[in-house]
Amino acid sequence: MDFNLSPESKMMVKAAKDFCEKEIGPIIDEIIEKDDYPDDLLLSFAKARMLGLNIPKEYGGVGTTNLNTILITEELGKTGSVCAYPMLMNNSTAETIDYWGSEDVKKTFLPPLCDGSAYASTAFTEPGTGSDPRALTTTAVPDGDDFIVNGTKRYITGGNKKGYGVFYLKDEALKGEKGDVTAFIVDKSSEGYTSSAPWSLMGLEGMNCVDVFLNDVRVPGTNILGERGNGFKILLRWIAGERIQQAAYMVGLGQAALDESVKYLGERVVGGKPMGFMQGFQWMLAEMKGRIEACRYLTYRAACLQDEGNAIDVVSSELKVFVIPAIQEVARMALQIHGSYGYSKEYKVERLFRYAAHAGVVASSSEINKTIAGSALLKSRR
Ligand SMILES: Cc1cc2nc3c(=O)[nH]c(=O)nc-3n(C[C@H](O)[C@H](O)[C@H](O)COP(=O)(O)OP(=O)(O)OC[C@H]3O[C@@H](n4cnc5c(N)ncnc54)[C@H](O)[C@@H]3O)c2cc1C
Repeated sequence: MDFNLSPESKMMVKAAKDFCEKEIGPIIDEIIEKDDYPDDLLLSFAKARMLGLNIPKEYGGVGTTNLNTILITEELGKTGSVCAYPMLMNNSTAETIDYWGSEDVKKTFLPPLCDGSAYASTAFTEPGTGSDPRALTTTAVPDGDDFIVNGTKRYITGGNKKGYGVFYLKDEALKGEKGDVTAFIVDKSSEGYTSSAPWSLMGLEGMNCVDVFLNDVRVPGTNILGERGNGFKILLRWIAGERIQQAAYMVGLGQAALDESVKYLGERVVGGKPMGFMQGFQWMLAEMKGRIEACRYLTYRAACLQDEGNAIDVVSSELKVFVIPAIQEVARMALQIHGSYGYSKEYKVERLFRYAAHAGVVASSSEINKTIAGSALLKSRR
């Protein structure tokens, strides 16, 4: 891995910084207040060429690398807003469709996900489970060339926004077989598709996590991704990429927490001097910086391995095991540096602290990732 970014990557980082400053900064307060983002958010991402990042140009994508995607995500993480997530959901769902879909499926679903006219979702979690494919209860029953879908999906990001979702469903015709989960693309404006109000979350205002109710929703058999019964494999491949993108978001968030802390320590006067003169705080800054840099380079490395075509299932779990607690600790230190003000919504670090908490339970939990990473080491001995 080359530690110097290519001229193309540098250009994309610069464009992402400008985008965050001009398009995201001014709307953050409104997103937080309304717990929602503007309908045209994805259109502005598309205009800035930040959608369809990994999708070939022939389907409307940008055709760039995973490394560039995570560099952009890092910039969005610095804003301390939810905005990275709708963008990432479109990019990663489109990538899954591109990887597993038939030519017809790609031609139908990729262009609207790349031009920002459709919001993507990925739906696995249900009221009964977010980790175990055997416990899924939402069913797809064959009916001629179509399938009839019934059940409830939980916590589905953007499940209430018009567009398409990849839904992981119990394929009833495969009942009793080892793999009985199939991945279907579901049009979120289908008859019988409804959603709840968004869950009220601790942070990430505007995430739009909803329950989705599927009541006799008809899905064409042509919307199946990959082989029937292969759904869990498709999900695991998607989620491994998500873990790297989430790590990039956390690196950006940590960097913002450090930047805010440096600023505060330079400005806040205690005992007649700026707080930054106190050695204890200098030590905290040093620890924060070290953690962020380590997380950053591990994240870049994981994206480079992905770009080189290596398997990322274990690497992305190891990444998550290291990055999430490291950056959560950075956010905690930033809050502490800010004293009482860190506990106030007037200060960005309060938000960063709350937002950092999501990462241990979203895109697979920390415990599941420890199991993946730890058991892989034991397997390698056999
Ligand atoms: C902000 C947000 C956005 C989300 N977006 C989506 C989305 O778009 N699509 C979607 O499908 N889901 C989404 N989710 C759901 C999320 O992916 C799940 O909540 C997550 O996978 C954990 O599932 P669970 O809560 O059902 O935990 P469970 O599976 O019930 O597990 C409960 C606890 O037990 C632990 N545990 C479970 N199994 C094991 C095991 N084998 N070994 C050790 N520990 C174990 C888990 O780590 C967890 O701590 C979102 C959640 C949030 C908070």
